[in-house]
Amino acid sequence: MEIKLELLPPEKRRKLDLEGDLPFGCIFTDHMFLMYYQEGKGWYDAQIKPYEPICLDPAATVFHYSQTIFEGLKAYYGVDGRIRLFRPERNMARMNYSAKRMCMPAIDKEFALHAIKTLVDLEKGWIPKEIGSALYIRPVLMGTEAFLGVKPSSEYIFFIILSPVGAYYKEGFNPIKIYVTDKYVRAVPGGVGDVKTGGNYAASLMASEEAAKLGYTQVLWLDAIERRYVEEVGTMNIFFYFEDELVTPALTGTILPGITRESVIQMAKDWGLKVNERRITIDEVIEGAETGRLKECFGTGTAAVISPVGYLAYKGKEYVINQGQTGPLAQRLFEELTGIQYGEKPDPYGWIQFVP
Ligand SMILES: *Cc1c(COP(=O)(O)O)cnc(C)c1O
Repeated sequence: MEIKLELLPPEKRRKLDLEGDLPFGCIFTDHMFLMYYQEGKGWYDAQIKPYEPICLDPAATVFHYSQTIFEGLKAYYGVDGRIRLFRPERNMARMNYSAKRMCMPAIDKEFALHAIKTLVDLEKGWIPKEIGSALYIRPVLMGTEAFLGVKPSSEYIFFIILSPVGAYYKEGFNPIKIYVTDKYVRAVPGGVGDVKTGGNYAASLMASEEAAKLGYTQVLWLDAIERRYVEEVGTMNIFFYFEDELVTPALTGTILPGITRESVIQMAKDWGLKVNERRITIDEVIEGAETGRLKECFGTGTAAVISPVGYLAYKGKEYVINQGQTGPLAQRLFEELTGIQYGEKPDPYGWIQFVP
């Protein structure tokens, strides 16, 4: 399929001061990618056109039953002036996994990646150059058929929008405070916890709001059945570094399979650490924090890369990890990953794809 280009004339393209403060996800570039799907016809009308509102029927499936999935990745402006994507083929594979679970048509992964690269190349002037900042890429697939029955939509749109984002760590690489909720749950076995679908995030809002009121940045979720096993944080996977092992909850279907998670596991193993994907109880974590056996705790995700956790609140008590300081493992992982992403370090795993 060819991508039809309908571009703004140069004088209509905006110029933004990319050096100033760029809050996450508020500013969007001049153009977007869009294509349509109809049952029996397949994907059609792939296009890049000016960024604008999408017009959908009020009866569209997505508005009523949330048949929608998304991805999140970044384009990085390297120290050598080249533009890099980090493992984008993993995002496309995950998008098709999500699509399958939500009874949506698959996208052609190579074509979608080509669409991302074409759009990013066209909008490369929007990639902030400061280390830590990037161009956030948001692909979305949603059901658009105008029909109120509960069934998979027969029509879909797939679009990609881009948003320049500033460095996540403006005031230094400092640990966050997280709140362990045993009141709400995020995902149940057999549900859609391992799918990047809108409803998961709507369902998580109340817990986040309540945690924020108490001064905590994120919520740590426990399993839905026993409320004992640690699952993950808001939009990050979670790791615990004990004296002799690095632990992260196993992918049991209720946890989002993060690409940063996967990369951290691989690097840590190659550095000779014992890495275990297993079940881990909140009691083991708390005991580790109390005895000092737990050396470090950090979250992993595209937005922050590595997010050290300094404080954990659970059942009305606050526990401190590593004196509330960033530990050496979190620091090393952050430097290694961002080093690869910004071209400051070699890419031994072949994780980088260049644009163009
Ligand atoms: C996207 C996401 C992650 C992190 O995935 P990455 O691929 O590392 O960005 C973790 N948990 C949830 C719930 C997410 O939505």
